[in-house]
Amino acid sequence: MIRCVSCGEEYDDDEIIYNCKKCGSILEVVTEDYDIPKETFEGRRDNLWKYKEFLPVDADKKVSLDEGGTPFVPCPTLGEELGIDLYVKVEGSNPTGSFKDRGMTLGMTKAMELGVDTVGCASTGNTSASLSAYAARAGKRCIVFLPSGKVALGKLAQAMFHGAEVVSIDGNFDEALKAMTQLAEEKYLYLLNSINPYRLEGQKTIGYEVVDHLGWESPDRIVLPVGNAGNISAIWKGVSEFHEAGFIDDLPMMTGIQAEGACPIVNAFNQHTMKMTPVENPETVATAIRIGAPVSSIKALHAIYDSNGFAQTVSDDEILAAQLELARKEGVGVEPASAASIAGVKRLVNEGEIDKGEKVVCIVTGHLLKDPNTAINACTKPKEVSADLNKIKELLLNK
Ligand SMILES: *Cc1c(COP(=O)(O)O)cnc(C)c1O
Ligand SMILES: [Zn+2]
Repeated sequence: MIRCVSCGEEYDDDEIIYNCKKCGSILEVVTEDYDIPKETFEGRRDNLWKYKEFLPVDADKKVSLDEGGTPFVPCPTLGEELGIDLYVKVEGSNPTGSFKDRGMTLGMTKAMELGVDTVGCASTGNTSASLSAYAARAGKRCIVFLPSGKVALGKLAQAMFHGAEVVSIDGNFDEALKAMTQLAEEKYLYLLNSINPYRLEGQKTIGYEVVDHLGWESPDRIVLPVGNAGNISAIWKGVSEFHEAGFIDDLPMMTGIQAEGACPIVNAFNQHTMKMTPVENPETVATAIRIGAPVSSIKALHAIYDSNGFAQTVSDDEILAAQLELARKEGVGVEPASAASIAGVKRLVNEGEIDKGEKVVCIVTGHLLKDPNTAINACTKPKEVSADLNKIKELLLNK
């Protein structure tokens, strides 16, 4: 069953619908059965389908690339510097290099169940990279809208290479999404942006995996970048379901980080309201979160308020510094948006919002290689030398 998050109106699973017909709000999939012992998952392969009893599609007919089951990596060096117990969940290790694959395996499986022939999305990059791959696997036509000139190189390469029909929209992501949503409402295609509640059913497994990794315990806090605000909503749904099922006793404080130039959720949080006011011309180096009108703002603000969480901004300089630090102190390479989580943790520790000793899990959402240009620009050029051993030794001595 699908339900409106605002008025509670209910809809059938096989109805293709993105907004409530009564009030226009967004929808969620209702998980009906919590009566499953956690021992059910034991001994299964570590991927998203390990938790198939909690997923609202037929796992025997899944469209899958073996997504999920991503590394859970302690960060002792950074953690010690900050006085916290810090971990990163490395979502860049998914098949196309971001957590979007978790949403797409569910979304594409649902698309097969519904029998649609064309799928589509608007994207800052990773959604299109992922959808393009899953559509290829499923044999579906795939149309993606990208904001012109604002998509990181690796993501663009993926979307094009897997065979999506890529359309460059002369406008920002919010405008591209509006056009794509209209196409979907006119039934030209099945929409696989995160307004589609089945996407979030896949992404909620990040929450499942975090508590599973910690030996069926909740961390004190989960910190992640927020763009269209689907992922923070999904992870909160995941941990809440495992809490409801009795697998964990506590819940994490959901902490969303946005870039200073694209921070409508943080603005709403600071005004203690549920009403998000869009940011007109969002701008940040972290293109994956360069979004001014997040579609899932209601769900995200619920997650933050209900979990006693927090929302904070970081500057582009802080994001790039955190990206470099994570790569050089812990060996974990992530794209700029992902590093917003680490930058946010640093800021919140300094502000005293995060307590010393807290167990903090940062969701690092996408791989370093998604945005090679930003990575190369952050470094000094390689030194050049002929293949003469004496010259090489000389060069290495003058470091
Ligand atoms: C999509 C994405 C985000 C933002 O997630 P939302 O669900 O839109 O809030 C953050 N980081 C990366 C790398 C992404 O691809
Ligand atoms: Zn409604």
